[in-house]
Amino acid sequence: MSVVPTTIAPEVEAAVAGFMLTQAQMTEVVERMTKEIKMGLARDTHPRAVIKCFVSYVQDLPTGKERGKYLALDLGGSNFRVLLVDLKSNTDIDIVSKSFVIASSMLSGPGKDLFDFIANCLADFCKEQRLQGEAIPLGFTFSFPLQQQGLTKGILVTWTKGFSCEGVVGKNVVALLQEAIERRGDLKINIVAILNDTVGTLMSCAFTSRNCRIGLIVGTGSNACYVEKTVNAECFENYQTSPKPHMIINAEWGAFGDNGVLDFVRTPYDRIVDKVTPNPGKQTFEKCISGMYMGELVRLVLVDLMAKGLIFAGERSEKIQTQWNFQTSYLSDIESDSPGDFRNCSKVISQLGLVGNHVRDKLHLRYICEAVSSRSAKLCSCGLVTLINKMNINDVSVGIDGSVYRFHPRYHDLLMFHMTKLLRPGIKFELLESDDGSGKGAALIAATAVQNQVSK
Ligand code: BGC
Ligand code: MG
Repeated sequence: MSVVPTTIAPEVEAAVAGFMLTQAQMTEVVERMTKEIKMGLARDTHPRAVIKCFVSYVQDLPTGKERGKYLALDLGGSNFRVLLVDLKSNTDIDIVSKSFVIASSMLSGPGKDLFDFIANCLADFCKEQRLQGEAIPLGFTFSFPLQQQGLTKGILVTWTKGFSCEGVVGKNVVALLQEAIERRGDLKINIVAILNDTVGTLMSCAFTSRNCRIGLIVGTGSNACYVEKTVNAECFENYQTSPKPHMIINAEWGAFGDNGVLDFVRTPYDRIVDKVTPNPGKQTFEKCISGMYMGELVRLVLVDLMAKGLIFAGERSEKIQTQWNFQTSYLSDIESDSPGDFRNCSKVISQLGLVGNHVRDKLHLRYICEAVSSRSAKLCSCGLVTLINKMNINDVSVGIDGSVYRFHPRYHDLLMFHMTKLLRPGIKFELLESDDGSGKGAALIAATAVQNQVSK
């Protein structure tokens, strides 16, 4: 048996040193983020704030007694989904869903095509489920920055995550969907709410866990929402007079750093990734954290080290030279190998068109992946700690969804570890994986919306 090397070459260590955030840097991130959140909430600073803290118009957490059948649409991740959610009890929820792939040409085409596509998928699904004729209430999970003006009105502020359809920014997205449904003319749909995926995630966790006050997504993109006091939600027109004490705030934390305040923790690789995205200069925090970008960061480090002959020396691969060819799922695969075993790592290496005969190269590749994923988890911890401190509560549950959190073998543990280190002693928290938060949450918000309509 050959001896497995365990030390990292100093040159490799140096290349990824920028990803290794110190405790002091993390504390500084929390401080800066706290400032930005306050700016987003306050009326006079909101227009120039980067973390917008949008009002969700969701003021009621679920009671646990919501029941009935609801339709949900989920747009904003890798697939578009239509769901039928039957809330039978808070432990018994039936979900039937169908996923549709959005053609990459549609991501940058006319917005009208996107909404026609959504309406067609909805029609397909309703036909299959024999739901024509019934006007089932629908909740629309739309996972992009939305300036809401009510539960059924939201203006798209900007696209993120590779979407860039024309003619949608600045428009009321609910109206665009309604128009597409009307163009078909064969569907009876009652859109009762539009919501962010983070809000859906929070709601679905709060349905079963009393303490849930934060919804987090670490998937293709990253964002969080939290429960704020209504009086602090100054951009809500009734913030001083509303009889309801709380407002869920969609932080849109992905944009943190768009004003340069995160430059002290960014690496040259982050700047390269930013340049090749459709939204350069935007979503700075998200680009350090989320699944859309982690693989590309690893790839850039690899390409850099290969050019210097420091990894996979003497090898060439067309594949690795091509943008976006290192999937983020590879990080989860590689880091799932038990130490000293490189089964998944070897598979990835061959998928990249490399040979990788040397164990040391595998060790280095894993080390690079760990650097990128632990930075993601550290920054995410900073964000969560900022929100927990802002709420000033000492016992909280966080509902979490997204492919990175779900599939990365150590992400949960990393969050637990770093949050514990950053929080004041004595604060209790719990991280809960939310199952299908977008769908269930949309149903719960729809249920409450229908209730409120009836009781008005
Ligand atoms: C969007 C958020 C969303 C997050 C996770 C971000 O790019 O701006 O609205 O919650 O991705 O899906
Ligand atoms: Mg999603």
